[in-house]
Amino acid sequence: MLLLAGGRVVTPGGVLSPGWIRLAGPVIDAVGPGDAPEPSAVDLRGQWVLPGFVDLHVHGGGGASFTAGTADDARKAAAFHRARGSTTVLASLVTAPLAELEARAALLADLADDGVVAGLHLEGPFLSPARRGAQDRRHMIAPDMAAFERLQAAARGHLRIITLAPELPGATRLIEAARRAGVTVAVGHTDATAEVTLAAIDAGATHATHLFNGMRPLHHREPGAVGALLDRADVTCEVIADGVHLHDIAIHLAARAAGPGRLVLVSDAMAAAGMPDGRYQLGSKRVTVTGGVARLQEDPGQPGAIAGSTATLADVVRHAILAGLPVPDVAAAASTTPARVLGLGDRTGALRPSLAADLVVCDDDFRPRAVMRQGEWLVAP
Ligand SMILES: [Zn+2]
Repeated sequence: MLLLAGGRVVTPGGVLSPGWIRLAGPVIDAVGPGDAPEPSAVDLRGQWVLPGFVDLHVHGGGGASFTAGTADDARKAAAFHRARGSTTVLASLVTAPLAELEARAALLADLADDGVVAGLHLEGPFLSPARRGAQDRRHMIAPDMAAFERLQAAARGHLRIITLAPELPGATRLIEAARRAGVTVAVGHTDATAEVTLAAIDAGATHATHLFNGMRPLHHREPGAVGALLDRADVTCEVIADGVHLHDIAIHLAARAAGPGRLVLVSDAMAAAGMPDGRYQLGSKRVTVTGGVARLQEDPGQPGAIAGSTATLADVVRHAILAGLPVPDVAAAASTTPARVLGLGDRTGALRPSLAADLVVCDDDFRPRAVMRQGEWLVAP
C-alpha cells in the first residue's frame, strides 16, 4: 500500500495540516490527520494535496481538440489536461452542422468507452445567435427532437450535458426529454429573461454554462439568466475563473451566491491551452491568441469577442485561490461538485476512503507538481 504524508490534505471536512492518505491500488483506503502512521511514506511536506480536478467544459488543449481531427488528436487533448491535474474530463463540442456533430459524438463515444473522457458535452447547436460568443451562428438551430435523438444515438449513452438557450421554440420539450434520458440540461449562450430561465429550471434544467459569459447580464429590474440561475438553489453554476473571462468581483459574487455546493470551476479550454500565442481553430471559427487571451478573428457583429480560454482547470483553481476563495471551497468547485453533476460523486471528486485515488499535488504557489489518476502517477512527485 502506498502512503502519501506530510502535505496539507484538502478533504471534504477541511484541511488536514499535515495529513496522510493511504492508497489501496486504484482507490483511497484511508485519510487521516497528523504524521504518517507508518514509515516509508512519500514525503509531500510543504505541498498541498487536492482531489483530482473534474472539468465539465473542455474543447481541447496542447494543440489538439475534441471538435476536429482524429481520435488520436482527441486522446492527446485529454492527456494534456490529465497531466495537468484534470483527472476527469468531459469532451465539449461546439455548434456545427448536424452530420458533423453526429460524427464527432460517435468518435468521442469510443473514447468514453475506453475511459479517456467521462462523456460528452454538447455546447450547441440549440443556442441563441444573439449570445453566440465564439460559436458559429450559421449552424445554430431551434431545439429539434429528431436532431436531439440522432445526437443521443451517436453518443451511445455518453451524452452527459447539453447546453441550450431556453427562449428558443421547442426548448421546453427538449429539456424534458433530455432530463428523462439522464442528460443534464445546462442553460447557456442564451438571451433568455429571468422568467424564461426560471421556467426552464422548472422544466428540468439544472446547470449553467459559464455563468455571465454568453448570456443576458444581470440588471436589477431584469436579472436575466444570470440572476435566475444564481438565485435557484437547484442549479449548479460554471464559472471560467481564469482572470480573463470574469472580473474577480464577479467570481466573488458568484461564489458567495452559489456557495461551495453549487459553484463549478471550468476551463472552457481550447486547443491553444498550453500553446504559444498564434492562430488556432475553435470549431469552424478562427481564433487569435495574444498574451494568452483568445479572441475571434472575424465576426462582424462582435469584433474581438473573447473565445474559449487557454487555461487549464489547474490555472483556474490557482486564479480562484489567488482571488481569495477559500481552498476547501475551490476544491469543492473544481472536483466534488462537478463530479456530482456527472453522477460520479460516489467514484471521484474528493479525498475520502473508497473513492478513486485521483489527486493533484500542488506547491505552495498552487502550481501542480504531481498528478495521480486511479492510483497511478501520471506525473510523479
Ligand atoms: Zn465552451
